[in-house]
Amino acid sequence: MSELYDVTIIGGGTTGLYTAFYSGMRELKTKVIEYQQHTGGKVSFFYPEKRIYDVGGFLGVTGDELVQNVEDQARFVDPEIVTGEKIVSIDKQEDGTFVLTNDAGQKHHSKTVIVASGMGTFEMEPLNVGDRASYDDYIHYTIQRKEQYNRKKVAIVSDSRVGIDWALALEGIAEAVELINRGADFKGTSEQDLESLRAADVRVHLSSKVETLEGEGKLQQLKLENGEVMEADDVLVYEGLHIDKSMYAEWGLDTEKGRIPVEPDMRANIDGIFVAGDAAVYNGKTMLIASGFNEAMAAVNSAAKYLNPKAAPQVYSTVIYKNR
Ligand SMILES: Cc1cc2nc3c(=O)[nH]c(=O)nc-3n(C[C@H](O)[C@H](O)[C@H](O)COP(=O)(O)OP(=O)(O)OC[C@H]3O[C@@H](n4cnc5c(N)ncnc54)[C@H](O)[C@@H]3O)c2cc1C
Repeated sequence: MSELYDVTIIGGGTTGLYTAFYSGMRELKTKVIEYQQHTGGKVSFFYPEKRIYDVGGFLGVTGDELVQNVEDQARFVDPEIVTGEKIVSIDKQEDGTFVLTNDAGQKHHSKTVIVASGMGTFEMEPLNVGDRASYDDYIHYTIQRKEQYNRKKVAIVSDSRVGIDWALALEGIAEAVELINRGADFKGTSEQDLESLRAADVRVHLSSKVETLEGEGKLQQLKLENGEVMEADDVLVYEGLHIDKSMYAEWGLDTEKGRIPVEPDMRANIDGIFVAGDAAVYNGKTMLIASGFNEAMAAVNSAAKYLNPKAAPQVYSTVIYKNR
């Protein structure tokens, strides 16, 4: 049997990492299990280079910097951080402990569980073109590093505000930006976005669909269904996300539109399981990084109480680390 932990956190996004810090600070034996090979969750995936202004004490921190800071903060208390493992089931044992099983069938043992796995795992809707596989290296589903597109010809395929966002971010960096929208307008956008797009050096193709990708050994051009051909070194695609909304229900948790309803102390419907971050839902919930931090503290404090009813309801870091 693998070692028994006090707290096992599912998800190594900003919430999971901060939960690990707080749990370690409360001297609970803590493990984090993250599906991706790296931590950071949505922040690392969607906006590593963007500046974030609404996390207290960090005016204009980049996504990368914030993730690095919160990971350093977690590592300060030395939790076990496991990456590349997807938890597929949680089973409560007769003795009240939990067995968490990953997609390879390996088991983790824990006295409590904190679910910080956001909306669960998700897949980007793939580019709907037959010969996609031959050009996989040139098809991207998020802008991670803008400099990767430096002086490249970039085609963006999207019918939403995300496509406009990307086009504006790459204009001036890429040699050329083409924005291809299968619809007649962009979903979820504002007049201000459209105004910025009109003023930008971006060629917009409405009611257009990519028919084929072409090139010898690498991507060189795209052909649209209307016969138009355009040069392209890379394609960026945002045609929506496919979110597996069944995961939490399969774990035996109550769900509300794929998220987990919680009590004010972040407890879920199974005793010993707590929730924090985007995974949680309650009246007035906001899906923001700072909300996840706050909920992480509440979830850990509740887990501490669950493990030891005499545990303090909250602690001060200035007291715990007074001799440092
Ligand atoms: C484009 C965009 C811009 C945003 N801008 C801001 C902003 O300016 N300010 C702000 O405060 N918020 C912003 N947000 C929201 C913010 O990113 C989220 O609220 C925050 O990232 C949630 O963190 P989380 O750790 O709860 O979840 P996530 O970041 O989703 O992390 C969950 C982690 O759990 C892992 N996981 C899922 N299922 C499993 C499983 N079964 N086993 C193991 N691991 C699993 C995932 O791989 C992921 O790493 C933005 C979001 C988006 C999409």
